[in-house]
Amino acid sequence: MTKGVQIHTALWFFNHGFSVIPQYIHTKTPKFRWGKYQTQRPTENELRRWFSIPSNGAIVCGANNLMVIDFDDASMFTEWLMWTNMTPKTRFIANSAYKVRTARGVHVYTRSASKPRNLHYPGIDIKGFGGLVTIPGSIHPSGFVYTEYGGTDFPIISDLSEILPSWMMITSEPEKPQRKTIDQLSAADILNMDTDNTFVDLELIKRNYRIENMLQDVIIDSGSHWGLTRCPFHDDNSPSFWVDTAKQLCGCFSGCTSAPLDAINLYARLHGLSNTEAIKEMGK
Ligand SMILES: [Zn+2]
Repeated sequence: MTKGVQIHTALWFFNHGFSVIPQYIHTKTPKFRWGKYQTQRPTENELRRWFSIPSNGAIVCGANNLMVIDFDDASMFTEWLMWTNMTPKTRFIANSAYKVRTARGVHVYTRSASKPRNLHYPGIDIKGFGGLVTIPGSIHPSGFVYTEYGGTDFPIISDLSEILPSWMMITSEPEKPQRKTIDQLSAADILNMDTDNTFVDLELIKRNYRIENMLQDVIIDSGSHWGLTRCPFHDDNSPSFWVDTAKQLCGCFSGCTSAPLDAINLYARLHGLSNTEAIKEMGK
């Protein structure tokens, strides 16, 4: 049987200036009202008392500007890791940040230079002020135990765009085939990601793959950056697929796309690939 959050885990967070609160074991239900711990830390004695009995635990986001990036599933996290591999700075952040495996995905711990807000993107939650994040040792209702997943630092982020690519902040792919959970992902998948010598340059990919060149017969209004063509995803008699040639985004007015697609999303959709697979092919 697992014992829940260990006191040394709670104290480690405490020593880094963060607030941890206890939850009932196997649940995400806090044992008491925790609002005051957004602005003050519990004492070491309180922590020792709380975690002397088997408990789940959560860290209070926003306190000490803690901002946690919550990747809902392993495939989203993997796509992000590939993107961070693009520059030394993002790679360093991804490697050094404290990370936790959740039942389906990964939490990445950072600190925001300003008061962090809660935000939601498709497949990604940003947990800021007012948010709780379950800490290692806690037991999910399914029996899964939250586990440390590398990194010991809380890198400071001035702007989310430093750590998230624009296409992760705008697009959604509800029609995408089932994603792997972190448990289905082999260790080799993750290792390959970290040690892969292939330098994935997303900016270069996007320069080489202009959306207007990937579609047929795009008519661009003279003097504008807006184009129209027939939608490749439905039987389209009147052109209803728009292209923003400046922002390199596109979509279908008839609803085939639930959110704007960028060049990588479009390539993936046209070829029936995941974003990760598309990036690999486009980077060749
Ligand atoms: Zn369409």
